[in-house]
Amino acid sequence: MAYYPGLEFIPSSRFVWSPAQRTVYYPARELGRESNQLGLLHEIGHAELGHTSYHSDIHLLGMEVDAWSYARQKAPEFGLTVDEAHIHACLESYRIWVHKRSVCPRCQFHGMQTTPTKFHCFMCRRRWRVSRGLSLQPRRMDCRSLASRD
Ligand SMILES: [Zn+2]
Ligand SMILES: [Zn+2]
Repeated sequence: MAYYPGLEFIPSSRFVWSPAQRTVYYPARELGRESNQLGLLHEIGHAELGHTSYHSDIHLLGMEVDAWSYARQKAPEFGLTVDEAHIHACLESYRIWVHKRSVCPRCQFHGMQTTPTKFHCFMCRRRWRVSRGLSLQPRRMDCRSLASRD
């Protein structure tokens, strides 16, 4: 963490990146696990890549992919082994979440996202709202349910 003087690190129960505070919250007690050390690099990736807000689920998914790429790239510098299965599982849970939200509740057609919380179906014209999900606070990226599958 001394490598990242521009960032604040605060022990917490889960991983959260707060762009407004330039703070990475991390589960200090579970940091012994290598997958969590990789998770910490992932959060740092959000910070270093300037991830501050998102306008759609797909945009958010892209940020998740990029933050994992960052973690993958930096892992050797910290002597970490990259667990591809872990990264895959994290991204897969995101992908499933993104997919579920986009399915029209009336006709099961794929809806179009118009705002971070609104979808529109071109087939049956139904509109529906979704939460920000994954306990995502506005302008916060919470990768917790992604990072703790075991
Ligand atoms: Zn529909
Ligand atoms: Zn993330």
